Amino acid sequence: MSGNTNEPRPHGFETLAIHAGASPDEKTGARNVPIYQTTAYVFDDSDHAASLFNLQTFGYISSRLTNPTVSALEEKVAALEDGRGAVACASGHAAQMLAMFVLMNPGDNFVASRNLYGGSVTQFAHTFKKFDWHVNFVDPADPENFRNAIDRKTKAIFLEVLANPGGIIVDLEPIAMIAKEAGIPLIVDNTMATPYLCRPFDWGADISIHSMTKFLGGHGTSMGGIVVESGNFDWAQNDKFPSMSEPDPAYHGLTFYETFGDFGFSTKAKAVALRDLGPTLAPQNAFNILTGIESLPVRMDRHLENGQAVAEFLERHPAVAWVSYAGLKSSPYHALAKKYLPKGPGSVFTFGLKGGYEAGVRAVESVELLSHLANLGDTRSLIIHPASTTHRQLTEDQQIASGAGPDVVRLSIGLETLDDIIADLDQALSYAQKKVSE
Ligand SMILES: *Cc1c(COP(=O)(O)O)cnc(C)c1O
Repeated sequence: MSGNTNEPRPHGFETLAIHAGASPDEKTGARNVPIYQTTAYVFDDSDHAASLFNLQTFGYISSRLTNPTVSALEEKVAALEDGRGAVACASGHAAQMLAMFVLMNPGDNFVASRNLYGGSVTQFAHTFKKFDWHVNFVDPADPENFRNAIDRKTKAIFLEVLANPGGIIVDLEPIAMIAKEAGIPLIVDNTMATPYLCRPFDWGADISIHSMTKFLGGHGTSMGGIVVESGNFDWAQNDKFPSMSEPDPAYHGLTFYETFGDFGFSTKAKAVALRDLGPTLAPQNAFNILTGIESLPVRMDRHLENGQAVAEFLERHPAVAWVSYAGLKSSPYHALAKKYLPKGPGSVFTFGLKGGYEAGVRAVESVELLSHLANLGDTRSLIIHPASTTHRQLTEDQQIASGAGPDVVRLSIGLETLDDIIADLDQALSYAQKKVSE
């Protein structure tokens, strides 16, 4: 390649993970993005202040809406997802709320895969109902289920491509077509896959959401969430999205889609939803997550390698009844995983113990290296028995339906020495099996 072509050569994923959004500080030359630990920003004069408040000039007013450290993170994640704009916020749950706030009016609904993170199911089914927003859960195994659940008031389809728990892979492409035909956006919670393993916009999705608390931050230190828009959705194609396509009385009649085009959705999410609902990401957490993302590709490679090896070990273990990991040939999702997650299907999965509930409780009690806790995507290997913890409020039938039956144990395989992870699981499972048969 010659050095003087006009089109710059696009950078690879690893380069973007380190450099996107993170040029040296103009004033000081600081190579890393500084932590702008400030709540507000001085205006040049009253005209400058007025144009900032009218959204006529880009700049900073209050860290409730925007902050330079947070902006750098938004730019980085948007680049990794090949999106046009992003809004970062305090947690994955906050990201879901901000996205839905732009899309929904009271009485509206969205169609969601029933195979979602447990906290998302609760947020959608119970808390969103208080805003008069409604959800129709469908089995994602058949894409037509999404089409059949769409009605006049449906404003989005929501799914996880790599669904937790259970290692389920959802067939993105036909569902994106169904959303397109209905004139509504497809939202993908891409937390478990990360853009390193799957880029939903390549398959026709319009919005991606992350809990950055998990693999993006990657070290179990900081909560964060983000909404990314592809920039490809036409918000004016129908009258379903007045908050994008009609003048906003809260901004002197500004029309967000007309004014901001392919980053209108994230601008609206910041200027209205973040401003008025307030789940701001702290600059320190943005910094921690920025640092985490720099090593995302190498971490994910090792998560995959360890995850695959542990799944294969468990499949051979005498105390184990089944392993649900799409990286195994025995998984019904193996072919879909090859299509949508060619590098591998992550490192979070479930397995079943022959000794049922009792064996599950004993196993999580007797691990020494693994941590027994309710998080995912840490450098550390994590273990939980959902039926006695995250899913204990549900009936046994509900537990089984959501992939968290009494015998189920969930793992998030970390970056420790593989032999150490396997040795710890081996001793814990053997102990659990012995206790149950006593
Ligand atoms: C953790 C998680 C969430 C919620 O994110 P928080 O940052 O904990 O609010 C949403 N979706 C998925 C897939 C998750 O794993």
